[in-house]
Amino acid sequence: MSKADEFRILGRRKGSEESIRFSYKGVDFHQDCFHVVAGLNAVDTREYVEETFKALKAAGQVCARMGAYKPRTSPYSFQGYGKSCLPYVFELAGKHGIRVISMEVTRDEHLDEIRAALRETGDATGVMLQIGTRNTQNFELLKTVGSQRDFPILLKRGFGITLHESLLAAEYVASAGNRDIVFCLRGMKTNFGDPHRNLVDFAHVPVVKRLTRMPVCIDPSHSVGIRATAPDGLLDIFHVAAQGIIAGANLVLTDVHPEPAKALVDAGQAITLDELPYFLEDCALVRETYEKRRRLR
Ligand code: PEP
Ligand code: MN
Repeated sequence: MSKADEFRILGRRKGSEESIRFSYKGVDFHQDCFHVVAGLNAVDTREYVEETFKALKAAGQVCARMGAYKPRTSPYSFQGYGKSCLPYVFELAGKHGIRVISMEVTRDEHLDEIRAALRETGDATGVMLQIGTRNTQNFELLKTVGSQRDFPILLKRGFGITLHESLLAAEYVASAGNRDIVFCLRGMKTNFGDPHRNLVDFAHVPVVKRLTRMPVCIDPSHSVGIRATAPDGLLDIFHVAAQGIIAGANLVLTDVHPEPAKALVDAGQAITLDELPYFLEDCALVRETYEKRRRLR
């Protein structure tokens, strides 16, 4: 099979060179957009959820991340509150003007539970279905999310497979019928990235944009995984986010928490609500510079 045939729908090739474009809940996604998607890695208390949405609203944000279903490496780790937290998450999102929530799903039933909770809360917000790195090659799940058109999809790169294989996973989703896909780089699992949790792979931002028509997201929180500060006073998470944005990233998925040490999942990698405005300003500065770089040509 030729390369062009492999990425039949998502590939950038003669005759279909245009970026995939979609609009969801009034938010536009394409290869020239820029959004920060900050929020809780895992939903915990109603109070923390509301504090987080409040801070996002104060910072002018309309997208957020909220994990309800958490596939964990250990069966003894917190697995997420699941459907029980959805009503208050959606209600509070609507109350604070959050239009799109990126939320991981791991099985078909989760889509039904999300649909039911959205209905129950009068469609207070919208959901982007996140496919986690551990499920990038869960082909049945890819077909499930691809064969519905209610929700867009954010597909994480597999942390232990090639980029090519991860892009084919995205093509699985598209070939099932839904092309409203964002592709997310989140670092690769290898000790060569130490002391970071994963080896940062944001050099692939322009590669994914060249090979495919998908908007590209970066996840600096899961890439770096630690709250370490460089001698210049900036967290590694800020530096790594900047590296992806300067290369043209379209979305930045970031863990924040009112009290990072108390987060139930990945406590070491969330930025605080106090740090959030600085992070957003930093992202905006770098984005502006990226746009200037483009105009230099
Ligand atoms: C997450 O974003 O919460 C997550 C679990 O990410 P990943 O699938 O990249 O590990
Ligand atoms: Mn995680």
